[in-house]
Amino acid sequence: MIPRVRRITALCALAAALTACGTVSGDRPAPAASPSSPASPSSTRPPVLAPGPGGLTPVFEHGPRDRGKTVALTFDADMTADQGPRAASGEHFDNPALIGALRALKVPATVFMTGRWADQYPAEARDLGRDPRFEVANHSWSHYAFTADCYGLPTVDAGRMREDVQRAYTSLRAAGVPRPMPYFRFPGGCYDQQALRALSGLGVTAVQWDVVSGDAFATDADAVVKQVLDGVKPGSVVVMHCTRSAAPTTERVVRTVVPELRRRGYRFVKVSELIGQAGTAR
Ligand SMILES: [Zn+2]
Repeated sequence: MIPRVRRITALCALAAALTACGTVSGDRPAPAASPSSPASPSSTRPPVLAPGPGGLTPVFEHGPRDRGKTVALTFDADMTADQGPRAASGEHFDNPALIGALRALKVPATVFMTGRWADQYPAEARDLGRDPRFEVANHSWSHYAFTADCYGLPTVDAGRMREDVQRAYTSLRAAGVPRPMPYFRFPGGCYDQQALRALSGLGVTAVQWDVVSGDAFATDADAVVKQVLDGVKPGSVVVMHCTRSAAPTTERVVRTVVPELRRRGYRFVKVSELIGQAGTAR
């Protein structure tokens, strides 16, 4: 078992590098559609969690443990607001080979995409958004932190948090993602009551995880594989990255982890399915 501190360090490393560069209701009606709302009125509305006390944005970490062996792989498509020059000079924040592997292995997955990434790679964002195998959700526009002291990431002012999430939805739609999901992943996974309050009323469910893959800046794919296989339980949400320069082993990890988890009886699902299961949990 790899100590937790090491896993946190890996996430921290990714966040830091990217800076300079880491009561439920399944049938609850989604919020009314508006230019900034994630759901479109004609689509089937994805399951979301009911808001917490005072309308606080709900947080989801994993699905029920007693509903069979399901696991959701999630991939953060990270890119911070100030990384355009690095992309222009040839650094790959995308990872088409990873997406190709997921397709070849027929693995459904959820991609948490920054708006900045969608702006940089609109064709790839559209391709992901139109492929029913994937669901595309929101990872902020800027990939700046929503709390202080989040692995060295620059911080979004509290008054602009909401706008940053809405701007990401605008970028995803502009790229051609037809139905971005009402799920939001905080950059670095950092949030507090103020951040949850700032996003209340947007209709999003914040999605964390219970398994850190440790793929950020990993050079030893086997160690990442072991960390995932040791960590997965029924209902788990695994966080990985869809940013080749910052997570170069992820494709190899997926090609090993997927057949092994299937051999152990696991079925891969999207985050929406786990949230839907949670909505009918006893
Ligand atoms: Zn991220």
